[in-house]
Formats: sequence, structure tokens, C-alpha cells
Amino acid sequence: MNTGKSALVHGYEVVIGFETHAQLSTRSKIFSRASTAFGAEPNTQACAVDLALPGTLPVMNRGAVERAIEFGLAVGSHIAPRSIFARKNYFYPDLPKGYQISQFEIPVVQGGRVEFFLEDEKRSVRLVRAHLEEDAGKSLHEDFVGQTGIDLNRAGTPLLEIVTEPDMRSSAEAVAYAKELHKIVTWIGICDGNMQEGSFRCDANVSVRKPGAPLGTRREIKNLNSFKFMQQAIDFEVRWQIERIEDGHAIKQATVLFNPDTGETRAMRSKEDAADYRYFPDPDLPPLVIADEWVQRVRDAMTELPRVMAQRFQAEYGLSEYDATVLTQSRAMAAYFEAAAKASGQPKLASNWIMGEVARRLNAGEIDIAESPVSALQLAQLILRIADGTISNNAAKQVLDALWNREDGDVDQLILSKGLKQLNDSDALAKIVDTVLAGNPKNVEEYKGGNGKALNALVGQIMKASQGKANPQQVNELLRKKMG
Ligand code: ADP
Ligand code: MG
Repeated sequence: MNTGKSALVHGYEVVIGFETHAQLSTRSKIFSRASTAFGAEPNTQACAVDLALPGTLPVMNRGAVERAIEFGLAVGSHIAPRSIFARKNYFYPDLPKGYQISQFEIPVVQGGRVEFFLEDEKRSVRLVRAHLEEDAGKSLHEDFVGQTGIDLNRAGTPLLEIVTEPDMRSSAEAVAYAKELHKIVTWIGICDGNMQEGSFRCDANVSVRKPGAPLGTRREIKNLNSFKFMQQAIDFEVRWQIERIEDGHAIKQATVLFNPDTGETRAMRSKEDAADYRYFPDPDLPPLVIADEWVQRVRDAMTELPRVMAQRFQAEYGLSEYDATVLTQSRAMAAYFEAAAKASGQPKLASNWIMGEVARRLNAGEIDIAESPVSALQLAQLILRIADGTISNNAAKQVLDALWNREDGDVDQLILSKGLKQLNDSDALAKIVDTVLAGNPKNVEEYKGGNGKALNALVGQIMKASQGKANPQQVNELLRKKMG
């Protein structure tokens, strides 16, 4: 599998660009008042406009525009003060108008970038544009023998199509981009991100070339609706293209589908050119005019963005850029960290524990942090007891396990009932140290003779004698003092 940014596959560079359809979370459709709710009986949520009955006219949904503006602001794009709706003409049974209303020459969102970490390397993918368009209906093949059903409930659902430059260089980077984009749209709340229901669908354009050569011919893998399939599909497609080229064939531009059952991509149709769609401005819709004041109002009402929050975490809590980015993977994660950091006054410990022990337990149980059995405040209690020396790191893990399993008692009660309190009493410690020193004259000799390792052996003895409860730092100090 190819990971890092510039990893070559059999001497070829992989080039990937994404087109993502994010369904906007409006209650009604983009140009009609019909509901967008998922899962209704077929054709119960398609009104006269969605059915393209003669004489009906589209009316722009303000909420959809507002969500497009929010997205543009989140990724640093230019919001076009005046953009144009266009008709994309094609015939398909699930498209009763015979055209899809989209944006072509002048989209509402222009430029911008999506930034993320790949492993721990910072990556940035440039966006070309994001434009508003309506979704088509659905053809139903199951339940029909020798026939196809048409469900127009989805017709007219608002979509934002987000298009990147061909900036990605591996399947791993493509998946990392898609995850970051998913995080952004769900974070700002413009899309519910439900991939199974088709609210977030990615088309991956994939080509390969020898390093330094011009871009190769791409094939477009349509409708990837899981991150796992995305990676599999791209990896298969890359291998397929390289084999074709190595066998002396040229790649032909095509649209392909991924079959999760076989793990293969297969050509669906040869690719249409923009000219085939005969785009022209839709005479039924006036230009979309967005005044600066509107953009400003949207900006003022927006929630703190992940990358802004990550910067604040660095400045306010002294976190590294990497830690701050991981802790802003979701709003729930960020809220959990901030609550634990504030309540404990120990942001560094909070970040280490959340990214380490807590994350590990969440992953193992496939639990979202919002459903964590240990609350941020409980974690803060635990961290306080580590910070004030009451318990060691290892003991803290045992307390965390107990909390995780919802054992009775709060942090302090669990420390007591499990006898995990660290021995900080210097008199008691001194006694143990003396006993161990008296019982191990050989180690003492060696240490005095300059063998540093002998100290470790003594510390080990003392930890054992104290049943692991001695404060290791104090033990070290005592030992050095006593042995001069
Ligand atoms: P179209 O108009 O046919 O959809 P675009 O030029 O808009 O084509 O590109 C669609 C997507 O394909 C974009 O995300 C772009 O980055 C990507 N892309 C373009 N050329 C290549 C290429 N040679 N290899 C991989 N991706 C590409
Ligand atoms: Mg396109």
C-alpha cells in the first residue's frame, strides 16, 4: 500500500483529485418546499417543482446558500458576490426536467484549501471550487422484475459539490483529505455526514505518471461512500492503471464503479465532456447575489472552526500543533479535552491521557468520545491525583479501568479501596530504603565503585518492598543521599 506524500508505486506517481457531494442539511429542497427527510415512502416528498410539472418555477432556498457561504468561510475561499445557476442537460429517468440545475462558469465558492496531517506530516489540498446544485431522483431495481421503479424523493435535495485540484499523491492522503473534509462539514453543521445514507459521497479522479511527466489520463471512481472502500478502490485502480500501461496500453478516460464484493473497479461509461452537457445559464433563476453584509453576518454567527480552535489550544494550553489537531478531530473530542484541562488545570496531562489511554479504550470499544463511560470531570479528578503525587501513572491506569467499568466510587474512593496510594511519607520510605540497603551490600559497593546500574537494582528492590507504591522520584533522592 502507498502511504507518504511522495511514495511511488512501482516507479509511478499517483495523482488524485476529488469531487465530493455533501448533502446540505436544510429541511426543504434547494428550489422547492418539499421535505428532504430521509427514508420516506417513494414519491411522497416530491412536489410539482421536483416532478417538473409544466409551469412550475424554482425558488432558491436561502438556507442552502447560507450553508455554502459557511463552508467557503471555513476553508478560506472567496465567496462570489454574484454567481450563476446553469442547466446541465442530460437524459435519465430519475431526472424529470431533462436537466440538472447546477453552477458552471461562476460557482458560489471559489478557491480555498483543506489542511490536515498525514501521519504527522502537514498536508494541504487546494480547492478549485464548491458549487450548489440539486440532486437527482433514484432508480429502484430491487422489488421490480423486468422493470425499474423511480423514486423522486431525493430530486431537488440541495448538494454542495466540492472540487479539489489534483493535489493528492496516495490513497492514504486521499482518505485523510476526505476525513478532514467530512470533519469540517459536520463540525460547522452544514451536512449530517451520514455516508450510508449518501449524505457525503466522494468521486475520486485517479491517474498515474512517471515522476516529472505531464498528468496522465484519469479515470473517475464514482460514489465512494465509505473511507474503507475509498482506500481499497483507489489502490485497486492504481494497480490496474499501472498494469495497463506496463502492458503497452493507453488509459482511456472513463467513469468507473467500485464493487466492494470483488474489490475491483469496473468501467461504467466512457467519460462525457462538459460540452456534451450543453450548459447554459438557467433563465428561470436570477444570478445569486451575496452582499458583503450577508457574508459578515454568517461569519459572526459561525462556531469556532477546528483549525482556529487548534491554534487556540496551542496558545492557551501550550499543546503541540499535532496534539492540538488530534484533539480537534470532532467537537465532542475538543469539548472533552477543554473540560478536562480546565477542571484539572493540567492541560498537558489531560492531552496525554486523552490521546493515549482514553483514546485506546474508546477505539477498542468502538465508542465515540461523546459516549465515553468516563466523563471529562472524572478524568480531571484522576489527573489531579497524578499531578499532586497521590498515585503513580500505573496506578492511575488501574483507576481509569475501574471508572471505565463503572465500578462504584469516585476517583479518591477507588484509590483508597484499591490501596493504590503512592508512598510519599519520607519517614516510612526511609525505613524501607534502609532495610533494602542493609540487605544488598553488594549493590551498594558497586554503586560506590561507580556502577550507575547498581542504583536501578536498588530502586527495583525498594519498589518491590513497597508493593509498587513508593514514589520513584523520592526513592532516587533518598538513595543518592544515603549512599553519599
Ligand atoms: P470535469 O469537468 O470533467 O469534471 P475537472 O477538470 O473539473 O473535470 O476535474 C475534475 C476532478 O478531476 C478535479 O478534482 C481534478 O482535480 C481532477 N483531475 C483532473 N485531472 C486529473 C488527472 N490527470 N489525474 C487525477 N485527477 C485529475
Ligand atoms: Mg466535474
